[in-house]
Amino acid sequence: MMNHELISKTISLKKYGIKNAIINYNLSPEKLHDICIEKGLGVKTYSGALAINTGEFTGRSPLDRFIVQDEITKDKVWWGDINIPFDSNRFDKLYDKVTKYLSDKELYVRDAYACADDKYRMNIRVINELPWSNIFAYNMFLRPTTEELDDFNPEWTIINAPNFMADAEIDGTRQHNFAILDFSKKVVLIGGTGYTGEMKKGIFSALNFILPVYKETLPMHCSANVGENGETAIFFGLSGTGKTTLSADPKRKLIGDDEHGWTKDNTIFNFEGGCYAKVINLSKENEPDIFDAIKSGSLLENVIFKNGTNEVDFSDISITQNTRVSYPINHIKNIQKPSLGKNPKNIFFLTADAFGVLPPISRLLPNQAAYHFISGYTAKVAGTEAGVTEPIPSFSACFGAPFMPLHPAKYAEMLSTKMKEANVNVWLVNTGWTGGPYGIGTRIKLKYTRAMINAALNGDLGTYNYKDYHIHSVFGVAQPRECPGVPKSVLSPRATWNNDEAYYKMAFKLSNAFRENFDQFESIANEEIRRGGPQRFAF
Ligand code: ATP
Ligand code: MN
Repeated sequence: MMNHELISKTISLKKYGIKNAIINYNLSPEKLHDICIEKGLGVKTYSGALAINTGEFTGRSPLDRFIVQDEITKDKVWWGDINIPFDSNRFDKLYDKVTKYLSDKELYVRDAYACADDKYRMNIRVINELPWSNIFAYNMFLRPTTEELDDFNPEWTIINAPNFMADAEIDGTRQHNFAILDFSKKVVLIGGTGYTGEMKKGIFSALNFILPVYKETLPMHCSANVGENGETAIFFGLSGTGKTTLSADPKRKLIGDDEHGWTKDNTIFNFEGGCYAKVINLSKENEPDIFDAIKSGSLLENVIFKNGTNEVDFSDISITQNTRVSYPINHIKNIQKPSLGKNPKNIFFLTADAFGVLPPISRLLPNQAAYHFISGYTAKVAGTEAGVTEPIPSFSACFGAPFMPLHPAKYAEMLSTKMKEANVNVWLVNTGWTGGPYGIGTRIKLKYTRAMINAALNGDLGTYNYKDYHIHSVFGVAQPRECPGVPKSVLSPRATWNNDEAYYKMAFKLSNAFRENFDQFESIANEEIRRGGPQRFAF
């Protein structure tokens, strides 16, 4: 057993410009838990987890994510409204302000790393203003051994000051909060927001630049697990589509729930050391692995208790829909150690189609896979306003555009090459609506989605021919006719609607949204990839 209480190492933060701080170095999560309670910053829940509130921000703020434009980044980053440039001199000034702000304070510092494959390891020092942010860092990054900490050499630094407020006019930010990456200084500077996810997605963004540019490795916004036969599966998808939920499968070993690299040596490795699960409507019945992972050491964010108890009401979204829990990956029972896998045999693209158009599972040809990867489709459902039932299509290239500093073509080319080499099966899984669009239909049952994924993994969906598959008339994807554990009618979205006219009208509406979005990629996608998309149709 490694005992973090025994770490006697003292460090100085002077080289960062932080002076006279009281430094709590690599405290154990238990100790940090107690500090949070003492300071009134958190509450111990029934299961032993600590519940905290992240404050004003309960999600990432993509419009306030900047990249310093310098010699390293200026010709490589795909600049625009996703990768917003930040002036280097202004960054230095803001950095000085933040480090001055943190001086004389009591801080929580942790040395950790990213990338489970030693060859790609990135050492990180996390400097937090708040103790619970430091629990998040313990849970989500990889944890060095006591020996490794002895001569730890941090490469990247996260400086995280939630209560520091920027002055947009002077500091060059958009508003009071910001997350800025500086590749020359190797710093992720976060201020004005306590949302913990900014730390993990900051490092993810850095790796999404470094790995393809310098290490011939494809970074992916996906979860991964491995079967008893050693076969790896990966699950791409935007937020809320099911990466975390579906990769937690008791019969398969979890590699990771959100961020992975695919190396030139044909391995998959997790960037992280933990999971960050949504807990909205979480139940032990539907998601036992995640439910049971919420125990001592886990950090719950923005949840509400059942009246007069310290038991969480997972259905209460009065603070946010994005209620979350982070925990070290070993809170999940069946995990792969270390978090590595071989070339995947199956790749799933998860999408929560609120139009109810896409089949719950379909098989993609290589050009269709390229098309859907570049498109990165999911749907957002309108707010809770009464009467507003219209879903909004949302496209995010590579299923993770906000974290991808390079042009999507770079990642898409790498993925296409790797998929060809590995001879993978690619599946499009609609974890969204069935029987009609949002407002009329319902979300497909988790047990059906799990059954379809299992069938795909076990080779139970037949061979790729007309006997076993129906070709969707608008999207051209191959829809299995049968699947163990799933009623036949569920496999055909058209059949679940019970209204052909309405179904096709919606299908063409969605296909037109796909085509319109893809226009911006016409110049990078060849004719074959373009043919992987749906038909265009004009009413
Ligand atoms: P993020 O990138 O934000 O971490 P994610 O892709 O990991 O998102 P999940 O955390 O797995 O997404 O969220 C999926 C949510 O949808 C969960 O709350 C899950 O319970 C719910 N859900 C409902 N039906 C399904 C289904 N059929 N398949 C998958 N998830 C479903
Ligand atoms: Mn997730």
